[in-house]
Amino acid sequence: MRVLVLNSGSSSQKSCVYEIGDALPENPPACVWEGKVEWVEGRVHYSIKNSRGDTVKDVAAVTSRGEAIRRLLDTLWGGKTKAISGPAAIEVVGHRVVHGGPRYFEPTMVTPEVKSEIEKVSAFAPLHNRAELEGMEIVAKVLGPVPQVAVFDTGFHHRMPLAAATYPGPYEWFEQGIRRYGFHGINHQYCAERAAQMLGKNLNSLRLITCHLGNGCSLAAIREGRSVDTTMGFTPLEGLMMGTRSGSVDPGVLTYLMRQRHFFDEKLDDVLNNKSGLLGISGISGDMREVLAATRNGDEPVKARAQLAFDMYVHRLRSGIGGMIAVLGGIDALVFTAGVGENSQEVRAAACENLGFAGVTLDRAKNAQSPMKGDTDISNADAAVRVLVIHAQEDWMIARACWSLLRKQSATA
Ligand code: ADP
Repeated sequence: MRVLVLNSGSSSQKSCVYEIGDALPENPPACVWEGKVEWVEGRVHYSIKNSRGDTVKDVAAVTSRGEAIRRLLDTLWGGKTKAISGPAAIEVVGHRVVHGGPRYFEPTMVTPEVKSEIEKVSAFAPLHNRAELEGMEIVAKVLGPVPQVAVFDTGFHHRMPLAAATYPGPYEWFEQGIRRYGFHGINHQYCAERAAQMLGKNLNSLRLITCHLGNGCSLAAIREGRSVDTTMGFTPLEGLMMGTRSGSVDPGVLTYLMRQRHFFDEKLDDVLNNKSGLLGISGISGDMREVLAATRNGDEPVKARAQLAFDMYVHRLRSGIGGMIAVLGGIDALVFTAGVGENSQEVRAAACENLGFAGVTLDRAKNAQSPMKGDTDISNADAAVRVLVIHAQEDWMIARACWSLLRKQSATA
């Protein structure tokens, strides 16, 4: 089965194609083609490669998401990176949908009703859900009536206990769908399964904490394969400090700012999502690499602000991990994943520094390997808790969900 995966972000569009046979492979296979479009300072950057190693890199004038996806898909069946014969060779299309709202959590066939529900909850995650709906419309135009599947980033957290999922506001909030949903669920679930596989243990016997540290950051506490707590909530803004997002701040700060009338709704949204976090504090960048470089090479006062940004990021991460250990009543493995989690030995070392009391100790040499060759256990050989670095595989999880759903449908047809 040939599966096209679309991952539509607010300022990027990632896409890849998997070929899956009659049985699911144990480990994620390589994509036969993958492409990425990024909107950077008024230009569109394309980066495409196929499994033969052919690549295309291009920069174009601003185009709509529709045009960008069309152009991207043209390189799948034409030109140097051609990997399939044409649009008809795609059997199913999977979409990462950030917010499933209260109704959708399992991977679901896209129907007009599903689309209208995704549209309804797009007020919860405006930057993401609208981009994903647009992706579905474009696929329908370019590929015709191919089955499309929505895979929800909130899905894995759906069965969080009510005590973790409910905000302590009026109970009516909960009844209106204002509750903690959690995000990055596709990757938290993948990391939990992969950790059990790496440790040779049954997932049901493990207490895991997965740290998804990318542009967005969240933790999940996982017991018996189920998410029992997570740091993101109603939107992907709650919890840890992130690249450009604030994470949790006292809601009193927001009501204060609103009372001052300095901030209208959209401006506040923009500040909290795009001008806060590492970028807001350091004044340099939301990219951890640049913040770390400034702590080493910057001149004062830039250096001090970069150091403060790093220290705050780590402080909140440690405090979040500590909270999750308490929720789980102990920990068997700690997982680092996504851009920062996979690549920053500084962040991993600092996050684990005070966790000796819980049985977490790192092997310095293993932590310092760069790049890491595949998923790696970086804990001390005699440590009570395993610390794992696991490469995020959201696209594979989406492809796998499409494969399973279509197989199930054809079995019951
Ligand atoms: P997304 O959340 O958009 O999927 P990624 O998981 O790709 O993002 O993470 C992107 C972030 O990873 C970058 O903004 C950067 O801060 C961080 N990153 C990537 N490589 C490194 C590195 N070598 N050291 C520190 N941070 C890194």
